[in-house]
Amino acid sequence: MSFSNLGLSPAILQAISERGYTAPTPIQTAAIPEILRGNDVLAAAQTGSGKTAAFALPLLQLLQDGPSQKPRRLHTLILVPTRELAQQTAAAIRTLAQASPQSLKIAALFGGVSINPQMMDLRGGADLVVATPGRLLDLIEHKALSIATVAALVLDEADRLLDMGFADEIGLILALLPKQRQNLFFSATFPPAVHALAARMLHQPARIAIAALEQNQPAIQQRAIQVDAGRRTQLLRHLLRENNWGRVLVFVATKYAAEHIAEKLQRAGIKAAAFHGEFSQGARDEVLADFKASKVQVLVATDVAARGIDIAQLPVVLNYDLPRSAVDYTHRIGRTGRAGRSGIAISFISADTEAHFRLIEKRHHLKCEREQIAGFEPVVTTVATGAPGVESPTDNLNGGIKGKRKSKKDKLREAAARDSTG
Ligand code: AMP
Repeated sequence: MSFSNLGLSPAILQAISERGYTAPTPIQTAAIPEILRGNDVLAAAQTGSGKTAAFALPLLQLLQDGPSQKPRRLHTLILVPTRELAQQTAAAIRTLAQASPQSLKIAALFGGVSINPQMMDLRGGADLVVATPGRLLDLIEHKALSIATVAALVLDEADRLLDMGFADEIGLILALLPKQRQNLFFSATFPPAVHALAARMLHQPARIAIAALEQNQPAIQQRAIQVDAGRRTQLLRHLLRENNWGRVLVFVATKYAAEHIAEKLQRAGIKAAAFHGEFSQGARDEVLADFKASKVQVLVATDVAARGIDIAQLPVVLNYDLPRSAVDYTHRIGRTGRAGRSGIAISFISADTEAHFRLIEKRHHLKCEREQIAGFEPVVTTVATGAPGVESPTDNLNGGIKGKRKSKKDKLREAAARDSTG
């Protein structure tokens, strides 16, 4: 196979030969023609496979050839998990773009450094941006750039993006992008959370080297157990007694619930601890160390606190309270089934959360059979709409928590919702 058979333009072929590449790697052979045809791509790709050039070469060509493309108007957005990868990817693309007939502005945006130089760099616009998700949102909020004109989105190392806790940010970014766009999705591994994100994002993608990988993926069994809201702690205790689960991560909606449920479990003789955003870094580290060392069996956590928890052997994740959004669901279940092990994700469903869970299932093209546990069959079957304390599922799916000051993310969510409706 040679580069000249893949549909690349003379300018791009020139760049390739200057770079010293003689033949395309397998992922380049498979991905380049698909990307040039405008298709979405879902590819299994490790570092070292040549994945960067696999998406960068055809995207540079599309960028140059796009009839409606105006100079310095953002065309391509590449999301990466780390500062190092942002810098490295931008540098690789700049090299490949050197042979372009027009000069392209390529910006690398990442956190951990002052935002000001990046804001300056974006003055006058950019054609292609490589960014980490958090800093990108910060820059959008500062009005340093808009992503409303993006024609091609790349998620590079999608598994690491989710592992590093970027599920929320990716959700917000997707909502701010134009609906009509090309999506390229690269990941080294495909645990269920990565699959779920790919299913949400991609439109009939060309699948590259996925099949072989899928067979080796650990299965996450997703279960939905019906139980009355008032009996969830009892059911949790029952499940802990009946099952031989080493560690369990229990998700709740509020700090209060985390404290309260952990305390109830402790009183029942279970080694439980709460984990929420008001803990100092020192306290967090201590609780996590205890959980890892199995001094704590059940960690009762809020979403914010659970970000970035990386524990290889986490067999069970339990949604005591359902997550607010479908993206949070992905993020939560991604805590289990890591490092090639299988896992279980259980959601407690009561009459007032059934509709909300159905929406989560719909977003993920998922259908969980509803289970009931003997002795815990629900008796409450209907909920009066508008009853106090019952939020409508749609409010709940993307909205903020009631009574809480709006966070930056909530504001961005609202802006995204306005953009997508207006
Ligand atoms: P990546 O997997 O994108 O991180 O690329 C790994 C390394 O392979 C980089 O140093 C690239 O410059 C190099 N590379 C990419 N494509 C080719 C190719 N077709 N021939 C030789 N080296 C390549």
